[in-house]
Amino acid sequence: MRPTGSLHLGHYHGVLKNWVEMQHQFECLFFVADWHALTTHYDTPQIIEQNVWDMVIDWLGAGVDPAQATLFIQSRVPEHAELHLLLSMITPLGWLERMPTYKDQQEKLTSKDLSTYGFLGYPLLMSSDVLIYRATQVPVGEDQVPHIEFTRELARRFNHIYGREAGFEEKAEAAIKKLGGKKAKLYRELRTRFQEQGDSEALESAKSLLDEQQSLSLGDRERLFGFLEGGGKMILSEPQAMLTVASKMPGLDGQKMSKSYGNTISLREDEADVSKKIRTMPTDPARIRRTDAGNPDRCPVWQLHQVYSIDSIKQWVQQGCRSAGIGCIECKQPVIDAVLEEQKPMRERAQLYLDDPSLVRNIIADGCEKARKLASETMRDVREAMGLGYS
Ligand code: SF4
Repeated sequence: MRPTGSLHLGHYHGVLKNWVEMQHQFECLFFVADWHALTTHYDTPQIIEQNVWDMVIDWLGAGVDPAQATLFIQSRVPEHAELHLLLSMITPLGWLERMPTYKDQQEKLTSKDLSTYGFLGYPLLMSSDVLIYRATQVPVGEDQVPHIEFTRELARRFNHIYGREAGFEEKAEAAIKKLGGKKAKLYRELRTRFQEQGDSEALESAKSLLDEQQSLSLGDRERLFGFLEGGGKMILSEPQAMLTVASKMPGLDGQKMSKSYGNTISLREDEADVSKKIRTMPTDPARIRRTDAGNPDRCPVWQLHQVYSIDSIKQWVQQGCRSAGIGCIECKQPVIDAVLEEQKPMRERAQLYLDDPSLVRNIIADGCEKARKLASETMRDVREAMGLGYS
């Protein structure tokens, strides 16, 4: 996530809630994309540092748990830049120029000169961010799917060019022997079933068999993965897009909640300000007096009820509004209560880190160290494959 300012409830409902769930199911890496921020905000570096720490506190407040997930800052793992550089050697310019977001963003952000090398290459930086961890899944919205597709193509291209090491077959055979008699036999059978009959179940079983082999070295594991499908060594693995549903979180004016519309409630906004913001929200413009009947479909407050209220309250709103049985201030109260309730644990958790900023620094330092360890394993293989091993 780019550090572009304090996070709001739209980020919570659209992204962070999903992260909090994912951290229980997968080994997750979440990072502050500070280099990405510079691709578009290269002329305002002063905003980056404070935004980074505020954003990490927002993540922690929202429930992202450093005991379960790895949190780090992109620029503190310089291997991302190294992989970006090395991949740039094999990335056709046309692939980058074709990215739908490239033209889109240039047209949208007209106040900035984005005809820069960094901006053109930012999808490649994103690919490096993913490939360097050999990530299997990347949570993205629909608009980011082309970036994952690009990443997959790039991994294939890389493996195709560099994956055929000298003596690959012999090395793969030697690795099979290391599986032990029974498993080696099973691996061979599954491989034959896949290669001769295209049996994809056999392929999946063979992959799980390899996943279970703790004692195999990383190099042998990749060789055996590559050998299964008949190709060379799989140095970079192809990630899948894990589609997340776009957030429908409405803002205070009924449009999508977004900083650029000025209609946000920030994640840790002061309680009194939250109440005031919701109390002064616009309502159905046709409902001028308390005695006028209204229509929730024309009211932004109703949209918030749809996010926050249980059925009985929604019914109460529908009936009360259409019959002028309730006033708008009355109608807004359950929304105020629900937002404050949602924010309460976030505020409490965040306070801990605001009181002692060294906690956040330590979490990030730990995360950077863990991420670097993973990244350097991939880089060792990439360097070696590209003739830069120098052993
Ligand atoms: S009663 Fe509620 S739904 Fe109806 S106009 Fe007022 S705030 Fe909107």
